[in-house]
Amino acid sequence: MQDLLIIGGSDAGISAALRARELSPETNVTIVLRDSYPNFSICGIPFYLSGEVADWKNLAHRTREEIEKSGIKLMSNTVAESIDPLAKEVNVRPAQGDPVTIGYDRLFLGIGAVSRQPNIEGLKTPGVFVLRWMDEARALHEFLEKNQPKSAVLIGGGYINMEMADALTLRGIRVTVIEHNPSILKTLDVELGEILKTYMEAKGVQVLCGFRAQRIQPQQEGGILVHVDNGNSLGADFAIVAVGAFPNTGIATAAGARCGPSGALKVNRRMETTLADVYAGGDCVETHHTILGKDVYLPLGSTSHKQGRVAGENVVGGNAEFVGSLGTQVVKVFETVAARAGFNDSDAVQYGYDPLSVDMKTWDHKVYYPEAKRLHIRLTGDRSNGKLLGAQFLGHVSTEAAKRVDTIAVALHAQMSIANLNDIDLSYTPPLGSPWDPIHQAAQNWLKAGRI
Ligand SMILES: Cc1cc2nc3c(=O)[nH]c(=O)nc-3n(C[C@H](O)[C@H](O)[C@H](O)COP(=O)(O)OP(=O)(O)OC[C@H]3O[C@@H](n4cnc5c(N)ncnc54)[C@H](O)[C@@H]3O)c2cc1C
Repeated sequence: MQDLLIIGGSDAGISAALRARELSPETNVTIVLRDSYPNFSICGIPFYLSGEVADWKNLAHRTREEIEKSGIKLMSNTVAESIDPLAKEVNVRPAQGDPVTIGYDRLFLGIGAVSRQPNIEGLKTPGVFVLRWMDEARALHEFLEKNQPKSAVLIGGGYINMEMADALTLRGIRVTVIEHNPSILKTLDVELGEILKTYMEAKGVQVLCGFRAQRIQPQQEGGILVHVDNGNSLGADFAIVAVGAFPNTGIATAAGARCGPSGALKVNRRMETTLADVYAGGDCVETHHTILGKDVYLPLGSTSHKQGRVAGENVVGGNAEFVGSLGTQVVKVFETVAARAGFNDSDAVQYGYDPLSVDMKTWDHKVYYPEAKRLHIRLTGDRSNGKLLGAQFLGHVSTEAAKRVDTIAVALHAQMSIANLNDIDLSYTPPLGSPWDPIHQAAQNWLKAGRI
């Protein structure tokens, strides 16, 4: 293997490049990316827009110089237009200059996802922003600095807009979130989403669930008007549309690569696509789900890094396998953390399990020690055999919900039962926990409710 060509310079592409060079320093690695932000942490965009990260340049996981020092050639502002898998060539078009054909021995696709455009009239109205790429983030930042807006409508109640509601409130902007589902943050069951909604309302965010934005129009006096399907309209200085993303597969399917049922590229555990010598990972592919033993679409930055690394090893002759995802995810909204690993109750039902989900609220550490806070845990297990299926957490940042959900992820990875969860030797000191950690307490509660 001489030449590794990578399309995509974000989490998956860079991880693949670094791993390949680490294992095989003699391999020529070239990355083609259509923008000029190689290896930027787009997960950090909300924190740049809030002002907590002062300079957009600080969002780079690594600088261009650091990447190039690893022996990787970067071709920024260059769009890959087509792949010829038989000739093993990719046609690329740089922003300046003539199109070029690049040959490869192995190709890795880390081409990511594309923001979903909802069926709302007037999405191109000035003052309506979509948020995924660095140039979109910088355009919104410029708008915020220049116009000092006072109000915003956020269309979509997923994790990006939860973070943006927090970020904009921090900037003194009045925020309304509109979500067509019955509750926000669908990674959580509806009941927990309701609790988060109430919390956000207490922070001054108006949250409208069960309504659809239908039309956006400019207002004569400036700003925009968002028409809602209940007949009301919401006036604001600007809007952000963040309603999810779909896999970017066009260039690969045009070359004959197959997709799975979700519409993302089909790959095996070695991250090989259905085309010879073409690998893929990250938001453009289906992901093996550890509990289900099936492939699903679960686009996350954490997963993209891992899949890129697996592919990077295999392209240079290795034999790595992507173990799988558990859907472990976490989001901080103001001072609250919402986290989940495995299935929530409604997902478990959807996948054919007979789940029992048991809620409990308990202190994060011994209550006699200052600053003890309540942590809400919903533990989901299989009613028929007591197997752990997942957990959701909602609590103040100091309750360590983010790290406690990781304990659940490890337990799921090890295919534990809920009884096993109660046996784990977890740490204890009064300022940080209890002899029976909240996780043990949740397990005991579940076993009592399930009589297992
Ligand atoms: C605001 C925001 C917050 C997020 N927060 C989190 C979080 O907290 N935790 C988490 O796990 N995930 C988070 N995510 C998701 C995470 O960012 C993505 O899962 C991850 O970036 C996917 O990485 P990727 O490399 O697969 O693709 P992408 O990051 O989508 O990158 C795709 C790359 O391909 C390039 N490209 C695409 N097509 C072409 C072409 N034809 N030619 C040349 N180049 C091309 C693009 O320029 C880009 O470099 C967040 C996403 C957003 C938008």
